[in-house]
Amino acid sequence: MKLSIDVGGTNLRSELHSQSEIVCEDVSSQENDLIDFIEAKLQSYPLISFIGIAFAGQIYKGEILSAPNLRIKEPKIKEYFESRYNLILEIDNDLNCAVRAEAHYFQSDSVLALYVGTGLGSAFIDNGQLVRGVKNQAFEIGHIPYKKSTLACGCGKTNCLELYASASGLNKWMHYYNIPNVSLLELENSPETKNREIAFAFKEALLFAAGTLITIANPKILVLGGGVIKHNPYLLEWLKESLRGQAFSASLDEVTLVISELQNGAISGAKLLEEHKNG
Ligand SMILES: [Zn+2]
Repeated sequence: MKLSIDVGGTNLRSELHSQSEIVCEDVSSQENDLIDFIEAKLQSYPLISFIGIAFAGQIYKGEILSAPNLRIKEPKIKEYFESRYNLILEIDNDLNCAVRAEAHYFQSDSVLALYVGTGLGSAFIDNGQLVRGVKNQAFEIGHIPYKKSTLACGCGKTNCLELYASASGLNKWMHYYNIPNVSLLELENSPETKNREIAFAFKEALLFAAGTLITIANPKILVLGGGVIKHNPYLLEWLKESLRGQAFSASLDEVTLVISELQNGAISGAKLLEEHKNG
């Protein structure tokens, strides 16, 4: 039996694969500790032999180094479970997982994934290889310095791109200005100037993210995913129209922008972790 888990900033989704069936579960990642969740699964299904986890945080050699949008009880998760149970556990950053699943889907060796969900993340497969950096932290687009803000990012800094181009960023700004929680489209079409400004700042930051990534990575495919993109697919055409002048034109001419066709790229990638050991 194999267990795949996607731990996002809002949802903890799992798929348990046995020979005869797939059992799916979707719970809150804020209210369910990952260690407790896995322990409970192992009690119910002692035959689990492999666990693959796509995690919305910074991972290095089976250890959670940081998690801007989550609380963690036991960072050394691989060691914790492998020393207690007869199983293999692999964990990697959720975008590293997602980009593998996207590259597999598109059958391409040059794919950059840019996902806008609770956080803002990206990862890059270049010439068939995942670009990891020395400590598996490459392409952390959400936490690059962007604009000084009165709000704090989950990582502690006050100038991250994620403060603008993410669901958590949008929620923070709406809360800051006492605006009832509404969708991006409702903000954009609101008669209130402040609401429209929040939506504009989101789009400006997303455009900056996409333009920067195309310029520094020069990918063949840029795939957009994550909850905010899935709920606002109009952002694809808007980005295509707006990128000229925001990215190096030689790179922009070569890239194809698409929206992810995968139901959940991160969990699809978590399944692939059995073949590709993590960083
Ligand atoms: Zn940050």
